[in-house]
Amino acid sequence: MTRSIRPLVAGNWKMNGLQSVLAEFDLMGAGNDVCIRRSVDLMICPPATLISALAHAAIGQGIAIGAQDCHSKDNGAHTGDISAQMLADAGASAVIVGHSERRADHGETDASVRLKAEAAYRNGLMAIICVGETRAERVAGKTLAVVRRQLKGSVPDGMTARDIVIAYEPVWAIGTGLTPTAKDVEEVHALIRADLKKIVGKDEAQKVRILYGGSVKPSNARELMSVANVDGALVGGASLKAEDFLGIAAAFH
Ligand code: PEP
Repeated sequence: MTRSIRPLVAGNWKMNGLQSVLAEFDLMGAGNDVCIRRSVDLMICPPATLISALAHAAIGQGIAIGAQDCHSKDNGAHTGDISAQMLADAGASAVIVGHSERRADHGETDASVRLKAEAAYRNGLMAIICVGETRAERVAGKTLAVVRRQLKGSVPDGMTARDIVIAYEPVWAIGTGLTPTAKDVEEVHALIRADLKKIVGKDEAQKVRILYGGSVKPSNARELMSVANVDGALVGGASLKAEDFLGIAAAFH
């Protein structure tokens, strides 16, 4: 299929990875061949403790390094937190904000996610802004309303397609092996594209990458990635192994 938007496959390593994982990252770099490089952008978002080491290891590998969260302020008395400024300083070029695990575990709201996305922008990081409904919300027929509300509340005005990526991640699909049907993904991604027009303007909305996330693996990537308005994937579990991560990237060539 011909794509007007260059896709992105981003791996979210969550709270996984010690220094020893550098060998697996090297395999990713080695396997990032010319076919993949031609067709898709790759990114790994390791835990903060590995950003600096991976940013160094990534030189010449064609894999960008992102972070998994940031504070909304650039510095100050916030023990244990990490700012977007620090992530950029460590070598990250992007940061995930509003992941459902942060929304659930740390009570993050659309408003706080928006402030984090603004902090990312201030510090030159691309914000990967996550939205997605829970199982209960889907069963109650509220999927579109929830995604709309999250999008409206979490995405700052005036962003360009270089500043933000949207990741649609149904919470019930994360780490469960379950995925929505292609038709369901298509419906939500079309809604996101349409609503983005109101937030970032018509022209930018056509260019913003909208990723699908939730149990993406090599065996289902081709089908999910061929859905209209799916411009890549945010991958959790399957991004920890070079073979699986590159297998997903291969869905684009
Ligand atoms: C995620 O947490 O962003 C994710 C998509 O996880 P998984 O691929 O493991 O479902």
